[in-house]
Amino acid sequence: MNKKIAVIKGDGIGPEIVNEAEKVLNKIGEKYGHTFEYTDVLMGGCAIDTTGVPLPQETIDICLASDSVLLGAVGGPKWDTLPGNLRPEAGLLGIRGAMKLFANIRPAKLIPALAGACPLKDEITKNGLDLVIVRELIGGAYFGERDTHVDENGVKHASDSMAYADYEVERICRVAFDMARKRGKKVHSVDKANVLDSSRLWREVAHKVAKDYPDVEFQDILVDNTAMQLVHNPAQFDVMVTENLFGDILSDEASMITGSLGMIPSASLGEGSLGLYEPIHGSAPDIAGQNKANPLATILSVAMMLRYSFDMSEEADAVEKAVDEVLADGYRTGDIMSEGMKCVTCSEMGDLVAQKI
Ligand code: NAD
Repeated sequence: MNKKIAVIKGDGIGPEIVNEAEKVLNKIGEKYGHTFEYTDVLMGGCAIDTTGVPLPQETIDICLASDSVLLGAVGGPKWDTLPGNLRPEAGLLGIRGAMKLFANIRPAKLIPALAGACPLKDEITKNGLDLVIVRELIGGAYFGERDTHVDENGVKHASDSMAYADYEVERICRVAFDMARKRGKKVHSVDKANVLDSSRLWREVAHKVAKDYPDVEFQDILVDNTAMQLVHNPAQFDVMVTENLFGDILSDEASMITGSLGMIPSASLGEGSLGLYEPIHGSAPDIAGQNKANPLATILSVAMMLRYSFDMSEEADAVEKAVDEVLADGYRTGDIMSEGMKCVTCSEMGDLVAQKI
């Protein structure tokens, strides 16, 4: 198969980690007979420096005309004092909107070789931890009506409305159920239906969608209970689906349970197969240009791209297995280094994963 990938290397460690992800993709192409065609496009600080804006129209056009988009990271102190609409992060929100990416998929998996980095006790993680959070990305409180005003008595008020339409809930629930079918066949729908109207709509729609997936086990769970269960018994979860604000918080909680920021990939998906794949960490300006960054989150993002945008499950499994094996062999970048392990550079880590494939 021939696939066109728009590549946003971005700022800081972005170019270094993306180079390693391309190395791994090329090896997959060689082994399985695919061709991956890369087009580099600008976004973030480097786009501001070159074009004056964080997200040039040309970048949007090329991303929309590609089969998938790979992103390193954007931002850095150089651009921190610019006004909000001209900051690198405006590029991130802009590209998600332009690509109509309504589903953010974040796996949280405990890699056995890195179990020591997990802050939970062994007795809690002994049953493993392998879950996916499916977060609604373009609705809810972050996109609802907001207001700040001072009333006639001089009291200041601020509000954000958490609004959802039934079709928005339905499409994200379908993403979760489809994903569960490819995994552990279990969905938890997270809401606050005991208090919020928007959650009662969420629950009603989730139940309706669940009827179309009789082979998938389904359960509602309140968001406060979910936060507790994640640290009490994370093994009970397979796929969790939730609205934007709850998902933002729960996915960070779940990431921390797995240990390192440099290990966690993500995917943002819309209606079709076009997706945006990126590590969850930032541009790490403190280690940029030193060949020290951990490229594994970006390499694992490429595995998600293979699985979700290109329907290449075997190839995705091969990437994830190679990462597991390199870690089991004792190789570590500085951020996940521990006693007795072998410390390698960013490019050496990429080489090791590619060799395992
Ligand atoms: P960060 O994730 O960049 O870094 C936090 C810490 O983790 C740093 O010490 C860094 O060295 C380390 N780290 C992060 N990724 C690593 C990796 N792959 N390998 C080894 N160590 C790694 O977060 P920050 O410092 O808060 O933000 C830095 C810049 O990144 C800011 O400009 C921020 O706005 C931006 N940012 C971008 C994205 C994105 O592009 N999606 C996400 C978050 C932050």
